Amino acid sequence: MRSSAGFAASALSLATLLLAGCYEVPVTGRRSMNLVDEKEVTKMSIAAFDEMKHRYPLSRDKERIAQLQRVGDRIAKVVFWDMPDADWEFVVFEVPHQINAFAMGGGKVGIFSGLYKIIENDDQLASVIAHEIAHVTAKHIHEQLSQEMMVNTGGLVGGVALMGSGANVLTSQALMNVYGLTAGVSGLAFDRKKEKEADYIGLMYMARAGYNPEESVKVLEKLDGESANQPVQPAFLSTHPSNPERILQLMDAMPKALAVREKSAIEAKPTLIK
Ligand SMILES: [Zn+2]
Repeated sequence: MRSSAGFAASALSLATLLLAGCYEVPVTGRRSMNLVDEKEVTKMSIAAFDEMKHRYPLSRDKERIAQLQRVGDRIAKVVFWDMPDADWEFVVFEVPHQINAFAMGGGKVGIFSGLYKIIENDDQLASVIAHEIAHVTAKHIHEQLSQEMMVNTGGLVGGVALMGSGANVLTSQALMNVYGLTAGVSGLAFDRKKEKEADYIGLMYMARAGYNPEESVKVLEKLDGESANQPVQPAFLSTHPSNPERILQLMDAMPKALAVREKSAIEAKPTLIK
């Protein structure tokens, strides 16, 4: 039988955990669960990103690299208070068959060159990057890992025990699995709720940065077109809710996003890429 002292200690750490384990998502204000060590996730994100840079060829296309940097810098500025410790890095991976992008803790952002099949201008690139960065500021990875931790350890008390003993070993490999960046890059497997939340937050971020939020709808429409031409759905699409559902949500939020853009001090200058 468990001693009463042990039980009191568990109850105390449980209370501490519940206090520490609550996170308010930026923009939406939703309360989410976070049981994982923030610093550990950032450390592993940086390691996983380094691994990606070894695993996939880097693009040498100066125009694309400069465009990603330009757009990334502007989005990074408006998310500063949501990610104050970020050491931003934007990388174009030369993987033409992958229409995909991702962002990680610590400010690491990668896009696969296949994305250029659907991206025509800075605004559209901004919508993709802002969506991916929204997953990070909303701590969706933390939430996902926390949910897995609860399942794997039999609930909160198990989670406390794991955290307390330091046995909660997060590896860069485990993190890449959550991101779906292993086994041929299959894309993130977030649930529908998280995807729609990232769409909404991303829309507000791109508007704050002065980009035209209406371009986000065109990206989703083009994804639909691409998926119709391919036997295998693009990764950015396959794990997301259906595009009509996402487009409807974006349209609903559009008046607000346009007002946010109107207020933004940054002047948008879309640049066409060849
Ligand atoms: Zn997503």
